[in-house]
Amino acid sequence: MRNKQATRLLLELSEPGRRGAVLPECDVPCQNLENLVPDRFLATSAPNLPEVTEPEVVRHYANLSTLNMSVDTHFYPLGSCTMKYNPKRNERLAALPGIVDVHPYQSDRSLQGLLRLFFELQQMLAEISGLDAVSLQPAAGAHGEMAALMVAAAYFRDQGELRNKVLTPDSAHGTNPASAKMCGFESVTVKSTPEGFVDMEDLRSKLDETVAVFMITNPNTLGLFECNVAAIAEEVHAHGGLIYLDGANMNAILGITRPGDFGADMMHFNPHKTFSGPHGGGGPGAGPIAVAEKLGDYLPVPIVVKTNSPDGPFFHLEFDRPQSIGRVRSFFGNCGVLVRAYCYLLTHGGPGLRRVAENAVLNANYLLSRVKHFLPVPQSESCMHEFVASAAELKQDRGIAAMDLAKRLLDYGIHAPTVYFPLTVKEAIMIEPTETESKETLDHFAETLFRIIDEPVDLLHEAPHTTGVSRPDEVAAARKPILKWVANNPPT
Ligand SMILES: *Cc1c(COP(=O)(O)O)cnc(C)c1O
Repeated sequence: MRNKQATRLLLELSEPGRRGAVLPECDVPCQNLENLVPDRFLATSAPNLPEVTEPEVVRHYANLSTLNMSVDTHFYPLGSCTMKYNPKRNERLAALPGIVDVHPYQSDRSLQGLLRLFFELQQMLAEISGLDAVSLQPAAGAHGEMAALMVAAAYFRDQGELRNKVLTPDSAHGTNPASAKMCGFESVTVKSTPEGFVDMEDLRSKLDETVAVFMITNPNTLGLFECNVAAIAEEVHAHGGLIYLDGANMNAILGITRPGDFGADMMHFNPHKTFSGPHGGGGPGAGPIAVAEKLGDYLPVPIVVKTNSPDGPFFHLEFDRPQSIGRVRSFFGNCGVLVRAYCYLLTHGGPGLRRVAENAVLNANYLLSRVKHFLPVPQSESCMHEFVASAAELKQDRGIAAMDLAKRLLDYGIHAPTVYFPLTVKEAIMIEPTETESKETLDHFAETLFRIIDEPVDLLHEAPHTTGVSRPDEVAAARKPILKWVANNPPT
């Protein structure tokens, strides 16, 4: 469904014979094509390509680029996904020829600069995590989860232990149970208390010698710091299990506390969230993992290692690691994203990183203190870097759902917050302002939300009105392919 002002498709602009460039007549003899290209590759008719002029193409794409929202153009308070500003300095540095022009098959000797950068990044991430060994290989947070669970599986196999379960809280990101399944574990859900913390009774009832890993997000997806985390880790460890920390919320605790210090054995980072890599639209990201010493030998290959020779330090990619789970990605990982993370970390330094987290938490609490007066925030008086409001009452009283608020915000030039996650909050609206926003932006957001709540219900149900694309019927769209798929794939 397109709103009126949307750009037309290039095919709709097409006029027969229109061209962007006029090529000179061919002045070399043309060989008979049929002799060069096998029959089966030859088209029988010309492809249906748009015939348009160069200015039309330029205008088309320039207009398309304005239809989207981005962190460079709009406030983007997307909870859980940390859409912080992407410093342009990092873009410039990641585009240096020594980084973009290298080839993955170059020798280690000719890649010393990049390998040193990776080596130092491994060390920085180990320090921030409070863990011992790091792999930069995984291509995204979810991929890091999976790689780490493969590490855990290999570790338990070597210990001769049969552990087939992974526990995840009911507030966990969907990728946690999905990663567990992908690695062949049974995924078991642990309940949360009404206050939003891990229900210790429920955890104890599910904890036994078949549990390999408890995956926990801390601060959790409600933006609350799980104060019991050390006790949880102690109980899981007492049963021989490992603690996995979903590091997507590191923005709240950078430089303040370290997962390794509160009991985590493994974790992933989301450099595209926490360390300001540009993301959205599916990538690219990276998902480095950090693990405790006893798990280090199982990390994916290659690892960047440093040896000291009389000529000075030498960095190389180490493949010969017999206990490794092997490769989880081609070549070194998502190089550009990792370079940006390295630049971000060096720019801030230790004390700067701590200030990042402090300001992220301050901004979220300021916004929470304004929003809670007109939109209930069931689980928190105060929060870490994000909070979860609920439109449940609003829906009951006036028929205004979280989705309506999210869509209407777009009309005011604000990217929608995350909605309907975590699943434990009805009509959830998850708001994460990040540290890079000013008080004026936060005030504007709160005032806009307040104004929207008072608008006519019909206006909200049909929002957005000013965007290139109007509201799709997401429920019908989501149901259709799923039902068709279920019909075609009956359970076995
Ligand atoms: C974003 C996120 C993930 C997954 O990370 P990707 O890089 O998107 O794969 C996992 N857990 C939480 C809590 C997240 O917010």
